[in-house]
Amino acid sequence: MKPIPYGRQHITDADIQAVVETLQSDFLTQGPKVAEFEKAFAEYIGADYAVAVANGTAALHLCALALGVTAGTRVITTPITFAASANCIKYADGEIYFADVDPETALMDIQKVKALIESKPKGYFSGLIPVDFAGYPVDLEAFRALANQHNLWIIEDACHAPGGYFVDTAGQAQRCGNGQFADLAIFSFHPVKHIATGEGGMITTNRRDLYEKLLLLRTHGITKNPEQLHQNHGGWYYEMQELGYNYRMPDMLTALGISQLKRADAGLQRRKEIAHQYDTAFFTHPQIKILNPAVYRNTEPGKEILHAYHLYVILVEDRKGLYDYLKANQIYAQVHYIPVHTMPYYQNLGFKQGDYPVAEGYYEKCLSLPMFPGLQPTEQDFVIAKVLEFIGR
Ligand SMILES: *Cc1c(COP(=O)(O)O)cnc(C)c1O
Repeated sequence: MKPIPYGRQHITDADIQAVVETLQSDFLTQGPKVAEFEKAFAEYIGADYAVAVANGTAALHLCALALGVTAGTRVITTPITFAASANCIKYADGEIYFADVDPETALMDIQKVKALIESKPKGYFSGLIPVDFAGYPVDLEAFRALANQHNLWIIEDACHAPGGYFVDTAGQAQRCGNGQFADLAIFSFHPVKHIATGEGGMITTNRRDLYEKLLLLRTHGITKNPEQLHQNHGGWYYEMQELGYNYRMPDMLTALGISQLKRADAGLQRRKEIAHQYDTAFFTHPQIKILNPAVYRNTEPGKEILHAYHLYVILVEDRKGLYDYLKANQIYAQVHYIPVHTMPYYQNLGFKQGDYPVAEGYYEKCLSLPMFPGLQPTEQDFVIAKVLEFIGR
C-alpha cells in the first residue's frame, strides 16, 4: 500500500489542459481567467463579489486592511485554527484576542466571545474572525446578531468550508462565505483544500465599498480607472492611491481553479461518503470520540447543516501513540491544530498555557484522519483497520 496522506489534491487531465492553454495564451497573469474564476466562484458560493488573491493568508491580510485595522484595533478569533487567522491582525498592527472553543465542535464558542466582549468597556473590540473549522459551518447568524449589538465587523475564515452551509432561523440555506452575515469571507486554494491551485486564495463579500478597496489593495493601491483618478495625464497614467501589495493570483492558477471548481460538488459528495464510512466504523467505539459525527446532525428541522469535511477529526486518549502507529503503517494523519496562543510568538505577546483550557484539552486528543476525494475505499478500510487495531490493543 502506498503512503496515505491526510489530504491531497485531485488533478485531472482537464485541469492540466486548462493550465497548458493558459501557458499558450497571451497572459500568464492578469488575463481573462482571473475575472472568469472570480465570477464562477462568487456564483458557487452565492456572494455578490469575489477577489482572487495570491493565497489565503494574503486574503486575510487584505481583509484586515480593507476594514481599517491599525494600531489599537482589537479583534477576537479562535485558538483552534491555522495561525494566519490571527496573524492577519498583527500584520496590520492590531491586537488579537482569543475566545475558547466549544468542546463539541471545536468552533469558537459564542458564549465565550460574548463574555469577553462584556468584560471590556463599550467599543473596545472592532471585529470577529470566526473559522468554519474542519468544514463545519459556524452559526454566523448568531455571530451577526452579537456583532450588531457591539458594532463589530466579521471576517469569516471559510478556508475549510467551500460548499458547506447551515440553515438559518428563516429556513434558508446559507453557504459559507456567501456574505449574508459576514462582511468578508476568505478561502485558500492550498493543495490540501477543496479547490487546489498550488497557491491561491479568494475573498468574497456583498459589500461594494470593501470590494473596490480590495481591488485597489491587491495591486499596489494603483488604479487606472478614469473615474477614480485625481488627475489624468494620458493613456499611460495611473495613480497609487493607497499603500497596497502585489497579492495577485496569476492566470495559470485561476485557470486551474476554474477547472477544479467544476468538480467541487462531486468532491464534497465524496468527502461526505468518506465521513460516513468513518462514522460507521467509529461511532459506537467507547474509546473514540468523533468530532461532529453525522449521526448527531441533520435531525432537528431547520437546523440542518452541510459539513464540508475539510478534515475528519477523532479524539482519543493516546493521540501520540495512535499518530505514531499510523505513521509506522505509512498513514500520515495530522493534528489540527496546535492552539495558536501556545505558539512561542504569541507566548511572547503575553498569552499563556492554560489561557484557553477547552482548546488545549481538545489539542491533547485530536487527530485528523485521511480525508480527500481521491482516497480509495481499500485505503480507507486500511486506515480504519489500523485505528481499531491500535485502540483495541
Ligand atoms: C489554509 C488556511 C489558511 C491560509 O491559507 P494559505 O493559502 O495557506 O495562505 C488560513 N486559515 C485557515 C483556517 C486555513 O486552513
